[in-house]
Formats: sequence, structure tokens, C-alpha cells
Amino acid sequence: ALEALKDVVRKIKSSSSIDKYLVEEIVRDIQRALLRADVNVRHVKQISDAIKKRALSEDVLPTFNVREHIIKIVYEELMRGIGEGLDIPLKKAKIMLVGLQGSGKTTTTAKMAKYFKDKGLKAGVITADTWRPAAYDQLKQLAEAYDIGFYGDKNEKDAVKIVRDGLEKMKDYDIIIIDTAGRHALEEGLINEMIEISRVANPDYKLLVLDAAIGQLASTQAKRFHDAIGIDGIVITKFDGTAKGGGALSAAREIGIPIAFLGTGEKVEDFEKFDPAGFVSRLLGMGDIKALLEKVERVVQQEDLDPEAFLKGNFTLKDVYKQIEAMRKMGPVSKIIEMLPLGGLGLKIDDDMMEATQEKMQKFKYIMDSMTEEEITNPAIIDSSRIRRIAIGSGTSPQDVKELLKYYKTMKSVMKKMKKGKFGKLPIKGFP
Ligand code: GDP
Ligand code: MG
Repeated sequence: ALEALKDVVRKIKSSSSIDKYLVEEIVRDIQRALLRADVNVRHVKQISDAIKKRALSEDVLPTFNVREHIIKIVYEELMRGIGEGLDIPLKKAKIMLVGLQGSGKTTTTAKMAKYFKDKGLKAGVITADTWRPAAYDQLKQLAEAYDIGFYGDKNEKDAVKIVRDGLEKMKDYDIIIIDTAGRHALEEGLINEMIEISRVANPDYKLLVLDAAIGQLASTQAKRFHDAIGIDGIVITKFDGTAKGGGALSAAREIGIPIAFLGTGEKVEDFEKFDPAGFVSRLLGMGDIKALLEKVERVVQQEDLDPEAFLKGNFTLKDVYKQIEAMRKMGPVSKIIEMLPLGGLGLKIDDDMMEATQEKMQKFKYIMDSMTEEEITNPAIIDSSRIRRIAIGSGTSPQDVKELLKYYKTMKSVMKKMKKGKFGKLPIKGFP
């Protein structure tokens, strides 16, 4: 009977409060924002239909009010509509960049090489643009300024030969990025050269560089390149200068290619890995919705952090990362540790661990960002030479890296003891 009553209560709660007009109004706001960002009409319709359907049919979760419920759906559908980014793991890879002239290939080549170099990999670039005389110097200068390996041959007209020679010379590099020629339109000469380079280089990733400002033209352009050589990912450049990145986004979605990186300025540093959640917030840079989105994000991430899941699996640095994410929202670590039943664990917690401040947690995140997937999932392999590399990559000191590892070990033994069932359910206040 109690169950039935609960059901009734839930139904009343949802049916009486989900206001069709509210849904319509929010959906209209979303549509306007997306269209303004140049997302294509079909794509906008897909997203907004999905939102409307779910908002009107799904029950409101107990932790949300109606408006938040709708926003949560909006957020999830936008994330779905945008799709996941392309994750390029930190290991040996050849990357070939293609795109029209002026799209930002050469700049992106340097940016990407620096990005991987900062993460501790040996990165080099090859200039295979034999069409524009200045291309060689442009890339050489950038490479030299950032201490990135460079290969090119000013007197060689055969781009395919340059690539072959360059790859031979750069055999011991981890990441090699090949900058290719672009033209104003994709004519046969360029297509054939691209196909030939792709055949000879056999790149792990072929990335299409698209200028955010081209808006709706992105789709046709991306299709042509995709048909010619098969594209693995998209880099949207000049994301700083225009709010119209949505065109490139729609193109990527339509063809089913993930976005890998964003170029956000002329400087080599103005470059970031594509992050769908950040993209959604940026697309919807409207005060009200943004604040709600942030709240949703917090709740969603807390759902992610299931203490019991920690106990089941192998506790890795990934879990530390998640913990830190959650802690950042909950206050300093000392507060969290106070809530943990450490007294009974017979564990000694150092003072400096108690003093783990927000800044320290941020530092730990940078450090983990500089680790390879293997190191994250199996921290035992991190020896002193890896510690040095990670410290350099993350702009921290070996001491900091060691501190993180110590933190990880302590947390791991806490988890292990809890796993043995000594304490039953994890009594951390504030966790769901
Ligand atoms: P390519 O012809 O495809 O090799 O293009 P370039 O790399 O030479 O870039 C063309 C122009 O776009 C240059 O003036 C770059 O400085 C500029 N550029 C490239 N990427 C970005 C970006 O993310 N933001 C801005 N604002 N400008 C960019
Ligand atoms: Mg160029």
C-alpha cells in the first residue's frame, strides 16, 4: 500500500507541475541560442524535439525541482547532440592535418605539437606544403620557438617525398604532425596529393581543420575531405573570433566525426582539447541557463561518484581524479577527511595531507593530466624517470608528483580497509 501511495504522490508531483508552456519556452530559448551559434536547422530540430519529448514524459527526480528537471534533460540532450570528443591517447602516433588554405593548419600543427610536448611526449612536425613558399618558414619559426622537432625541404617540390623523408628522419619521435597544403577549393591536384601523402604516411589520425567562421559551408567541405581520405577527427579553429562554431559542429555530427581540438586564438598556446560539457556551456552562454547548467553538472558529477563503486573495483588514480573533482565542490580535503572514519582504521594521516588545499588538488589534477592512460590505471609502474617526465609535463616538481602518489596510496589503503567490510556503508556526509 505504501508503494502504491508513493506512486500516486509521484504522479501528482510530475503531472501537475510539468508545465507544457515552460517546456516550450525553454526549448525556444535553446533553439534561438543554437541557431545563433550557426548550428544547422535540422540538427537544432533533432535536439529540441528530443528535449520536448523527454521533458514532457519523464518523471521528475526527487532531487530536482521541475525547472531543474527540464534543464537536466536539456543538458543531456545537448551533450548527446554534440557527441563525444576525439580522445588521442598519449603515445606514439602520426597525425596528418588537412583543410582549405587559411583554415589554420600550419598554426594548428605547431599548437598540437606543443600540446603533446607539454604532456611529456617527443613531438615533431613535417611541412609538406610545397604550394605556398612561405609555409616552410612559418612552421620552422614556430617549431624553433617552442623547441619542437622540424623537418622540411625548401627545394623539394614533391610533397610525398618530403613526408617519406621526414618520417624516416623522425623515427624516434612519439608524435609527428604533418602539415599539408591547402587551396581555396578542393580541386583534383590537391585531392590526389592528399591521398598519396595519406597512403605513404599511413597516419593514425587524419584531422580536418575547419575555420569556425565558415558556418553552414562546413558540411559540404567536411564531406568532400571525408570522401577523399577518410577523416578521423575535426579541429575547429578561430573559435575565439566568432560565435558560429555551431556550423562546424553540425558538420561533424552529420558525418559522424568527433571533434578533437579547438583553436581559440592566434598564439600557439591558444589551443584546447575539445570538451563537450564546456562547449555546451559556451554555446548557451546565457546567464540563467548557464547557472542552472552548472548546478546540473554538479549533481550529475555527484551521481558519478558512488563511494560503493570505489570499493568494488580496483582503486586507481582515475578515482582520485573523480574524488578531487567532487571535493573541489565540497570544500577542503581536511573537511572531507574529518568525515571519514579514519580513527578506526589505524591509519596515520600526515599533517601535510590534511593540509591538502584546493590549490594542491588543482596541482594534482594537472599532474594526472600529464600521465598516460597506463600510468593512471596502473600507478605502480610510475618510476623515478616517469616521475621526472610527469613533473616536467605538468609544470610541477617531482616532489609534487611523489606527494600525489603518496596521497593515492593512503586513499587506496583506506578504501581497501573499507572494502573488507569493517565499516559497512561508507559514512561520508554529503555524498549521495
Ligand atoms: P593554413 O593556410 O591552413 O596553414 O592557415 P594558417 O595556419 O597559416 O592560419 C591562417 C591565419 O589564421 C593566420 O593568420 C593565423 O594566425 C590565423 N589563425 C589560425 N588559427 C587561429 C585561431 O584559433 N584563432 C585566431 N584568431 N586565428 C587563427
Ligand atoms: Mg599552411
